[in-house]
Amino acid sequence: MSCNAKTRSGGLCQKHPLVGKVRCRLHGGLSPSGELHWNYRHGNCTKESRRKLAEGSAYIKLLGELAIYLGLIEPKR
Ligand SMILES: [Zn+2]
Repeated sequence: MSCNAKTRSGGLCQKHPLVGKVRCRLHGGLSPSGELHWNYRHGNCTKESRRKLAEGSAYIKLLGELAIYLGLIEPKR
């Protein structure tokens, strides 16, 4: 696997990325990600929290369907 950042000559960077990163040291591999990044604010907009949010609402939807199935609540019309 290589860095694959677009270079000024139009090609893709063929250097190896830093360990645990997708880019080489010249193409952003040195900058920290997540909480360590200097633009990090609250973490509510990270890929991880969005995935958790989606999982949460899917779970609530499932609970609602279960409640309807068991006759606990009326289905919406
Ligand atoms: Zn590179």
